[in-house]
Amino acid sequence: MAKEDIKPDIRQRSLEQLTTELTGYGEKAFRARQIFEWLWVKSARDFDEMTNLSLALRALLKQKYSIRPVTVAESQFSSDKTIKSGFRLHDGNLVEGVLIPTEKRMTACISSQVGCSLSCTFCATGTLERKRNLYAGEIYDQVVLINEQAVKNYGIPLSNIVLMGMGEPLLNYVNVLQAIERLTATDGLNIAPRRITLSTAGIAKMIRKLADDQVRFNLALSLHAADDQKRNGIMAINETNCLQELKDALMYFTSLPAIKSRSNTSPSTTLTWAMKMPKTWSASQVTSPVK
Ligand code: SF4
Repeated sequence: MAKEDIKPDIRQRSLEQLTTELTGYGEKAFRARQIFEWLWVKSARDFDEMTNLSLALRALLKQKYSIRPVTVAESQFSSDKTIKSGFRLHDGNLVEGVLIPTEKRMTACISSQVGCSLSCTFCATGTLERKRNLYAGEIYDQVVLINEQAVKNYGIPLSNIVLMGMGEPLLNYVNVLQAIERLTATDGLNIAPRRITLSTAGIAKMIRKLADDQVRFNLALSLHAADDQKRNGIMAINETNCLQELKDALMYFTSLPAIKSRSNTSPSTTLTWAMKMPKTWSASQVTSPVK
């Protein structure tokens, strides 16, 4: 396993934090905005790509920070045009992402954790130990890399993103929301929130939190069974988040005024119910969330 880089990851800094730190090093405040743009708009993976910064500032950045980009370890191309990739993280861990081209959509299915703690019986990831949460930059990088695959192989950029790969996104709440904020921000990748779907195995209190935080992306619940006894048998999370609790949380999610007003202006911010992909299936067996 790769040795941990002890310099802080610059992508874990907010613009405000970066501004404070850089001015503390005697740099002008506007440099932080330039660096932020390199990181989140131009997806720079090395400080030397930041060519509008002086060599001295780039040297300072290298001394104080690291960028921990995700790289493609291997890719498998299927006859149905899906591309499944293993992504290598800075610490040597691997996660999976899939490009799913269909007639109308170019969808990236991305991961939110290394492994998963929920152990759904139908899911290969559930047999893996949950090692850690992905950082926002690692979630963002999967989108950038899969978009590169889409453009390179099919000449079409991504149209949709689903957080339906390894891990339960709602158990990595802060980093997932930070990543989506960077994906959707005008000073980020500027992807429309309605193009993004977070898929959860069903954690009622976190669904309520999504509503309270007034998120603007879609939500998919991996249902798999419509009665508690059956669902308990295949998804242990159901034992502490029964169907009635999930239903109440989903009703709360859809009933808040802020969400209703979003739906009026943006029809694709509707709640989605979808079957989650068993990891033993091929990616082509995933259907798009039902709107
Ligand atoms: S289906 Fe999702 S929540 Fe369940 S074990 Fe697999 S990755 Fe985890």
